[in-house]
Amino acid sequence: MKEKLEDIKIKGLKKIENIKNISELEDVRKELTGKKSELSQVLKSMSSLSNEDKKSIGMFTTEIKNLFIDKLHGKEEEIISSMSVLDGPIDLTLPGHKVNEGALHPITQMKYDLNDAFLSLGFDLYSEDDISSEKYAFDNLNFAKDHPARESMDTYWIEGTEAKSGAERLCLRPHLTGGSVRYLMRHGAPARFVYPGGAYRNETTDARHERAFVQYEALIVDKDISFSSGMVMIQTILEKVFGRKINTRMREGFFPFTEPGYEIDMECLVCGGKGCKVCNHNGWIEVMPGGVIHPNVLKSAGLNPEEWTGFYINIGLDRLVMMRYGVDDVRLFHSADLRFLKQFK
Ligand SMILES: [Zn+2]
Repeated sequence: MKEKLEDIKIKGLKKIENIKNISELEDVRKELTGKKSELSQVLKSMSSLSNEDKKSIGMFTTEIKNLFIDKLHGKEEEIISSMSVLDGPIDLTLPGHKVNEGALHPITQMKYDLNDAFLSLGFDLYSEDDISSEKYAFDNLNFAKDHPARESMDTYWIEGTEAKSGAERLCLRPHLTGGSVRYLMRHGAPARFVYPGGAYRNETTDARHERAFVQYEALIVDKDISFSSGMVMIQTILEKVFGRKINTRMREGFFPFTEPGYEIDMECLVCGGKGCKVCNHNGWIEVMPGGVIHPNVLKSAGLNPEEWTGFYINIGLDRLVMMRYGVDDVRLFHSADLRFLKQFK
């Protein structure tokens, strides 16, 4: 049996020596060290041998196998180092590798869809800085001096301006509404415009609240804007966004810059109105506060409230996107988790 093993060893080493490429190497590797190799056959046929012979033949077989593995490894390195980086001539007509393309964030997409919808209704698109002031965030908008929303619990004040007041006391805008007065001061009335952007609140996050979120506000100012024209606008926008009629309801709401103010709810599309954690188990979700613009706000913008009226809506983009895709946790949109975001491509 020893002679047979010697023979296997000599032939095997010769085979390894003659290998010319990687595919041949894999064949020889299988032939010499695989389960059906001659070495394996020898090990299987040892049952008739004495224990001592079993031991010495077994050791010799293992020694040969290790030698093969070692030589094959050396041969593999030799072949790889002498190989061209190309397998053969390049075929320039072959299709290239697919590029992993990005996509718009679903909130950005919703913003663009709303822009399209409003622009088609003759609205102007307006934007301003994320840093605002007490004057524009609160004073102009009829917030009482002691209104709780002015306090640090709701607003991020800019360090170094705390002791100041009005236009000199700076904050990250807690809502977009301040931009409405700035636009009206610059452009006068009549006006119809939207002003999407980021807003910031110093509050605890949960499934429906974020510290930084995207708002989308729209305002019409004209002579004799009625409450019903505001409602028609809301219905039209929702229909454009969702491609079908959406059930809505209005509740009385209080916002210093409106008189009267409303909370506009839409039927929760995550649960179809049955109740879920997004809609607080009541089947409706508040998507846009709104209302008739307060006379004091018009005065701040230099307009005569006897002459002009207006209607605000403030669309919660995050919530609309949650409704569009049936997503039940707003924090996912800001998680930067590609596994989540790739679903919206
Ligand atoms: Zn629901």
